Amino acid sequence: MTPEGRTVLVTGATRGIGRAIAERFVAAGHRVATISRSTQVPDGVLAVTGDVTDSAAVDAAFTQIEQELGPVEVLVANAGITRDGLMMRMSDEDFEQVLDVNLTGAFRVARRASKGMIRARFGRIVFISSVIGLYGGAGQVNYGASKAGLVGVARAITRELGGRGITANVVAPGFIQTAMTDALPPEQQKTYLAAIPAARFASADEVAGVVQFLAGPDAGYISGAVIPVDGGLGMGH
Ligand code: NDP
Repeated sequence: MTPEGRTVLVTGATRGIGRAIAERFVAAGHRVATISRSTQVPDGVLAVTGDVTDSAAVDAAFTQIEQELGPVEVLVANAGITRDGLMMRMSDEDFEQVLDVNLTGAFRVARRASKGMIRARFGRIVFISSVIGLYGGAGQVNYGASKAGLVGVARAITRELGGRGITANVVAPGFIQTAMTDALPPEQQKTYLAAIPAARFASADEVAGVVQFLAGPDAGYISGAVIPVDGGLGMGH
C-alpha cells in the first residue's frame, strides 16, 4: 500500500474475523473504520453505528467516514449472520434476513464504495464468503445461498469496474474460531474437524492476513478470485 496508508472500511469489526482484519490494517498504519450495530471496536478504529440492511444508514455512515478519514479505498464486506435450520422448517423471515445482511448488505456497501473508487480510479473490495457457499452446509440453505451469491457479485464488479483500477475478490474461510462457530453444537464441531485436512480450526488472524494481501500492491492483478482459507476443507469446489 502507499506509505501514507489507505482508508479502509471493514464492516462488522466489533468481533471475530472483522475485528482481526481491522486490527491488522491499523497495525499497518492505515485509517480504519467500521460499520456495525454495536461499537466495541479495536483501538484506532473509527466506529460508525449502522446496519448494513439499511441503505440510508449505509450512505450516512460512508459520508461520516469520508469526512473523517477520506474516501474508502479498501472495502472489506465482512458483516454476516447465521439463522441455521433445516430447509423444510425454515421460515421466509430466516431466509430473507440472512440474505439481507450477508448478500444485499455486501452489495449496499460495495455500491456506495464504488462511487469514490471510480473517481479515484483505485479500489480494493474483498467479500468475506464461506466454504459453505460452494461446499454446501446442511441446515444452511439461507447462509449458503448468501455466501455463494457473493461470488457472483465479485465477478460482476470485476467485469464492470476492472478497467478502473478496482479489484473485487472473495475470501472463503473454513472453520474459524469465533463466537459464530463457538455457538455450534460440540458434535457438529467434531464432525467438521474430522473433515479438515489441516486437522485444526483456524484463527481469525489467518483470514486477516489473506485479506491484507488482497488489499495490497502485490494483488493488483487478482480480481474475481475465490481464495479459500479453510485448511483444505472445501478442496475441489
Ligand atoms: P461474528 O458473529 O463474530 O461477527 C459478525 C460481525 O458482523 C459483528 O461485528 C456484527 O456486529 C456484524 N454485523 C452483524 N449483522 C450486522 C448488520 N446487520 N449490520 C452491520 N453489522 C452487522 O462473526 P464472524 O467473525 O465469525 O464472521 C465474520 C464473517 O465471516 C461473516 O460474514 C461470516 O459469515 C464469515 N465466516 C465466518 C466463519 C467462521 O468460522 N467464524 C467461517 C466462514 C465465514 P454487530 O452485532 O455489532 O452489528
